[in-house]
Amino acid sequence: MMKGMPPGRKRNVSPPRLKEILSRLASSIPVPRMELDFRNPFELLVATVLSAQSTDRTVNSVTPALFGAFPDVPALSRAPVSKIEELIRPTGFFRRKAEHLIRLSEAIRTRFGGAVPDRMEDLVTLPGVGRKTASVVLAHGFGIPAIPVDTHVIRVSRRLNLTQSEDPVVIEDDLKAEMSRSSWIAGSSRLLLHGRYVCLARKPLCPTCVLEDICPSRSIFP
Ligand code: SF4
Repeated sequence: MMKGMPPGRKRNVSPPRLKEILSRLASSIPVPRMELDFRNPFELLVATVLSAQSTDRTVNSVTPALFGAFPDVPALSRAPVSKIEELIRPTGFFRRKAEHLIRLSEAIRTRFGGAVPDRMEDLVTLPGVGRKTASVVLAHGFGIPAIPVDTHVIRVSRRLNLTQSEDPVVIEDDLKAEMSRSSWIAGSSRLLLHGRYVCLARKPLCPTCVLEDICPSRSIFP
């Protein structure tokens, strides 16, 4: 059994093939840039919370005014909820998100001395912060190896047979087991961007995909 693999779990990943996939994606996506705009971990955390059920473009359209009005943890923790709701309204679910932003800022202020924590176990205790958001902050806010598993990473990983699970935590484990730690951030970012721009949910662009000849799902999308 491979190191780090839970008993009874079947490996579905062929390491050389994942290596090949990541190598090809590195040529098609040389710079796997984060598409949310942010200047520090706090802004990234807020932007990522806002990105749920929204697009990065929409989030980027509201964050300049939000951070202009409430530039840091203390300011956001004491912000009037109605003002935050007004500023973030275009991102959807704005009432719940506004409540989360105030409560998570308050938690960072009172429990973490005003600094966004840089440990998974601390980040996931913040209101509105799940494992995916925490991984985004670790990877892109702090440069700590992590694999955020979002809807694009799930779809691409399953189509490429990198996993057979639909559970984001299992998919994260499957990917981590076959990637060197140093490639987690760039590799997962490339899988995400590939899903966002090429391996689309309804109509993937298979004829132009760099993985077309090694993708087991290619035949499903003529
Ligand atoms: S060949 Fe099609 S299904 Fe396979 S990864 Fe590329 S776009 Fe996705």
